[in-house]
Amino acid sequence: MAIRKIREVGEFGDSVLRKPCKEVKEITPRVQDLINDMFDTLYEADGVGLAAPQVGILKRIAVIDVTGEDPILLINPKVLETSGEQTGYEGCLSVPGKTGRVTRPNYAKILAYNENMEPFEIEGTELLARAMLHELDHLEGHIYVEKVEGPLQDVEDVEDEE
Ligand code: ZN
Repeated sequence: MAIRKIREVGEFGDSVLRKPCKEVKEITPRVQDLINDMFDTLYEADGVGLAAPQVGILKRIAVIDVTGEDPILLINPKVLETSGEQTGYEGCLSVPGKTGRVTRPNYAKILAYNENMEPFEIEGTELLARAMLHELDHLEGHIYVEKVEGPLQDVEDVEDEE
């Protein structure tokens, strides 16, 4: 178990955040270590989600926890269904201190694999849907700032407004 360095936009890690990731074929000890480290890194950073390219690994793995008590591992995730719409402020551990308004579906159903490479479906609304779709974007090399409506803002300024 270890905390990994989170790659940030605009720094050395930028290019790894802009590339599509490769499918996981099997859970090797290295992949298992990566998964454990991704959860450690997510909780250490007090984040909601983290995708493997954010720690410099181009594999289709994401970890999410929107409550701090419901860890979700998504391996090779695919969107099966989305509906509705939500608009809200979004942030990313790779874009520290910034936030912006993003419109996404309000509901998402995802097909993914667990750490035994067994398929499962997970559905979510609101923050969970937003988090899953944000992480899936990372696996395609996309970052939320591409979808921000209006200017990217400082987190502190937005918190003052509320
Ligand atoms: Zn992100």
